[in-house]
Amino acid sequence: MELSGLINFFYIASATLFIFGIKMLGSANTARRGNMVSSIGMLIAIVVTLVDKQVFDSWMWILAGIGAGSLIGFFAAKLVKMTSMPELVALFNGFGGLASLLIGWAEYQKVVDANAGAIGELLNPGVTHFTASVIFLAVFIGGITFTGSMYAWGKLSGKISGQAKVFAGQKAFNALIMLGILLTGVLYATTPNTGNAYQFFLAFVILSLLLGIFGVMPIGGGDMPVVISLLNSCSGLAACAAGFVIQNNVLIVAGCLVGASGLILTIIMCKAMNRTLANVLFSGFGAMAQKAGGKQEGEMKALSSEDAYYVLEAASSVVFVPGYGMAVAQAQHAVKELGEILEENGAEVRFAIHPVAGRMPGHMNVLLAEADVPYEQLSEMDDVNPLMTTVDVAIVIGANDVVNPAAGEDPNSPIYGMPIINVHEAKTVFALKRGQGAGFSGLVNQLFFRENTRMLYGDAKATVTELLAQFKD
Ligand code: NDP
Repeated sequence: MELSGLINFFYIASATLFIFGIKMLGSANTARRGNMVSSIGMLIAIVVTLVDKQVFDSWMWILAGIGAGSLIGFFAAKLVKMTSMPELVALFNGFGGLASLLIGWAEYQKVVDANAGAIGELLNPGVTHFTASVIFLAVFIGGITFTGSMYAWGKLSGKISGQAKVFAGQKAFNALIMLGILLTGVLYATTPNTGNAYQFFLAFVILSLLLGIFGVMPIGGGDMPVVISLLNSCSGLAACAAGFVIQNNVLIVAGCLVGASGLILTIIMCKAMNRTLANVLFSGFGAMAQKAGGKQEGEMKALSSEDAYYVLEAASSVVFVPGYGMAVAQAQHAVKELGEILEENGAEVRFAIHPVAGRMPGHMNVLLAEADVPYEQLSEMDDVNPLMTTVDVAIVIGANDVVNPAAGEDPNSPIYGMPIINVHEAKTVFALKRGQGAGFSGLVNQLFFRENTRMLYGDAKATVTELLAQFKD
């Protein structure tokens, strides 16, 4: 077999490993192995590419790059808190976008430098229209992904205010930038080897970087995970374009896989919030929610852990609904233990998982799997809601938006239409939270003022531990 045939064989092998790896990520049981399988695919792809391109003269740079990247990746993954995972993903996406931008730029710069002294005739064959078009796509999508992800990271990590920043004429302003990118992109791609092409190129580099910032600016912090998932998809598309620029098949395939899976995840998240992608991107949801989060009539009724114990002791059906607060409190192990005790006490115990509970998709599944909660006890929202009227106690652990009944009852609420877990239909609701803090949307939650709701104030882990102590006494 010729070398090129062998290289393509290994590329197909690594693409197959990527696909199987992604498939295995679909279940908590196989996710770790899936990650490993995909990583092996990537290792094969890298080694084969190095052999194919015969770039061993620069091996010092390559080794330094692999060493620095591995070290940063290792410590970033080791040190990151579970609750900060979306921030880390935002950073990774951003650098993926930047890499594609730099690949496109480097390929073009090579030709520009080669022709630097040319007068009239090009010394170098120049860039074809096709290559110029894919360079434009790699740079444009990569640029937006880079600054958009950095801005999203700033919002999530609290370095920048998480509020949606809306100003008059913002949509028109963004549309103008987009028009500028398309115009300079077309001018560049149709005349990539003429005198002005480099100016057009620089113009769309700058405009793309700007659009990343101004595009994410009007989106509220609560929607950042959706934005990050979309930017993840963009980083894949940019990598795919970069694959066409340097004619590397495995980069094209890997880019497509990331692009498609990121987009599917984005759509799933939008559906779970009953919102369109356009609504997430252009409605200024966070700003809107701030205005709509008015005052609530009634009062929140506190309950001691001792009184809560008496209710739980008599309950024959209990549903736990975990949310972001459980992740903050790291209460999952204590919650699992409480579930076991309730089961031993004769109650039927379920854990109801809302698809957007927490701060990233699958956040609650990961935490509960870490605590070894049996998979059979995990119920999806659609399966548990029809049973909710028969539930004796729904224990809401640091969840807020995903159990806000306004989503189903108040047409004026910004979250109206978002599917929620209907805990308010349970006979009794225990809400575990530290105080009056709002959820990510910033809205007041009517659930906490309902007749059947009792508040168990305090850090979720401390409260669950107190309940456990009551059972053990
Ligand atoms: P929320 O952000 O709505 O609410 C979290 C609650 O936890 C707060 O009200 C807070 O109240 C409480 N809390 C915080 N720390 C603690 C603690 N240590 N102990 C006890 N309680 C605590 O969380 P949900 O999971 O209900 O909702 C997720 C939100 O994120 C939704 O708005 C969703 O749309 C959004 N989102 C999530 C995505 C995802 O992928 N998961 C994607 C896109 C958006 P207090 O301060 O009083 O303690």
